[in-house]
Amino acid sequence: MQKKESISGLILAGGRGTRMGHVDKGLQPFRGKPMAAHVLERLAPQVAAVAINANQNLPTYADFGVPVWVDETTGFAGPLAGLEAGLRHCATDYLLTAPCDSPFLPLDLAARLWDALQAEGADVALAVTQEAGMRKQPHPVFCLVKTSLLPVLSAYLAEGGRRMDGWYTGLKVAEVRFEDADAFRNINTLDELHSLDSARAPRLADVVSCMSGYDPNALPVRDAQRIIRDFVTPIRAVEKVALRSALDRVLAGDIVSPINVPAHDNSAMDGYALRGADLRTDAPTTLKVVATIYAGRPSDVTPVAGECVRIMTGGVMPAGCDSVVPQEFVAAASETGITLDPGTIRTGDNRRFAGEDLKAGSAALKKGKIIRPADLGLLASLGIAEVPVQRRLRVAFFSTGDELRSIGEPLDAGCVYDSNRYTLHGMLTRLGCDIIDMGVVRDEPQALEDALRTACENADAIVTSGGVSVGAADYTRQIMARLGDVTFWKIGMRPGRPLAFGRIASNGKSAFLFGLPGNPVAVMVSFYFFARAALLHMMGADAPLPMLKVKSAGAIRKKPGRTEYQRGILSLDAGGVQQVAITGSQGSGILRSMSEANCMVVLHDEQGNVAVGDQVDVLLFEGLV
Ligand code: AMP
Ligand code: MG
Repeated sequence: MQKKESISGLILAGGRGTRMGHVDKGLQPFRGKPMAAHVLERLAPQVAAVAINANQNLPTYADFGVPVWVDETTGFAGPLAGLEAGLRHCATDYLLTAPCDSPFLPLDLAARLWDALQAEGADVALAVTQEAGMRKQPHPVFCLVKTSLLPVLSAYLAEGGRRMDGWYTGLKVAEVRFEDADAFRNINTLDELHSLDSARAPRLADVVSCMSGYDPNALPVRDAQRIIRDFVTPIRAVEKVALRSALDRVLAGDIVSPINVPAHDNSAMDGYALRGADLRTDAPTTLKVVATIYAGRPSDVTPVAGECVRIMTGGVMPAGCDSVVPQEFVAAASETGITLDPGTIRTGDNRRFAGEDLKAGSAALKKGKIIRPADLGLLASLGIAEVPVQRRLRVAFFSTGDELRSIGEPLDAGCVYDSNRYTLHGMLTRLGCDIIDMGVVRDEPQALEDALRTACENADAIVTSGGVSVGAADYTRQIMARLGDVTFWKIGMRPGRPLAFGRIASNGKSAFLFGLPGNPVAVMVSFYFFARAALLHMMGADAPLPMLKVKSAGAIRKKPGRTEYQRGILSLDAGGVQQVAITGSQGSGILRSMSEANCMVVLHDEQGNVAVGDQVDVLLFEGLV
């Protein structure tokens, strides 16, 4: 029997797309075409014919040019209902299924399942994978089934059975082990889809190939920053939060003002609203007070020439009046009239125009803004109670090193307390991330792999410290490289230098990885100058760092050719002018001077020695995160 001729392929696209936000998974664009089209492309050469099982968007699926079969067991009963429809309609003796969200399925899937099914005389053959150190994982949605099994499956469904791996318990099953677990990777959420989409997430090699003179062993800070920026992709998920909870979150959409703010022309002062035309330039002006207007209580009084209205701050300007004289500028006032000297005010003074703060329909806040107290106030002034924000970025972090002890443990000879997890905790928390502190991980391959996989499966980004230089016991590099697209740099900087960066994947999930050096100051500096901007970009935030230029209080020795980040103290000199002085020891393990400093002096690659009084770039710690 010819294998290809006796197998039909079925793309399972009948789900509701619940985890994709109720969009039809198979129709989601991925690398330039719908996901189901990728599956079709890989499945078609392996089988006699392909059909699609779908329960919505049927005309769109019909445009793929293959038959579309809907479930007969109704109510979105899951992939088994799709398989049932497939077995019912299938014209061949065997049916091979693949989910619509598996764009990497193996090209030898049909052949290998067929061979095993024949060899073992089985009814069903399915794919399994097993990654190093992990349990065997069956993939029952990638299965080859004898068409004659329709009655068995229908009976299982009729009894309410829904489990993909439940219906064949009484049958003979052949398991076929595939080496490439990634080929069975399915894409369950829009986030995952976007993070895998090569149009958005290029490979490091592609990013680096655009760069002239790229040398990972002597990479200028700027180039490293650029590669990181070009490589990371923002998360897409958005949530709506109550206005107060939006503080420090990243705005996920432009806010357009629904109203004029203020809604009416009104007075900026407590005083008298008058007609500018009545103001005399040659002699005092005397006006009759005809009414009083309070804020929030508009009046329809219309003063005529020679009349004015007492008005409170925020009171709606009466018709015909265009100016307000503050009450303290009035030369004389009584119940009935006021007098003011020539030149006290000009026409138009102290009048606020409707919409002068914001016009209805104009952009009030831009997507990507980190919401500050002023923004909360602005949103409140528009009457907006709920704000769309990016979901928080999840960042997992751990420290590596056999010499590290956690607080509470005895400090054995030759050991140090882990401080990096605490600085990272502080910096990530201030950045607004959801953090996952994974503790200290030993310099041991299995422990490192487990930690990286767990981090990858639970977070958007991973920050590690230690183990990225070429020390003998540092396995971190090896394991990181094995798990994904990771590069190791020696950056032209001090402190710092070694940095691992890339993206790793585990069990269908991926995460960006920042492997920071171990030295406590190097960790902070690498975080501030590489990870911070990247994480903000992932958060969807538009938050450039403000650098100050300040005179140096002392001479600083500096070698051209690398960037130096020196811990500094910004203060005022005797004349009240800002100046910066370098703090004592700049050793990369000396946290004390980092704690004493209130800023970093950034001495760029091309810069040489700094003389007293020279201007230098300074980055303040406060406000940094
Ligand atoms: P490594 O990059 O792993 O070679 O570490 C460089 C130096 O930083 C070593 O002296 C480590 O003991 C120290 N170090 C690494 N991680 C930490 C940490 N989490 N807390 C304090 N010191 C650390
Ligand atoms: Mg180490």
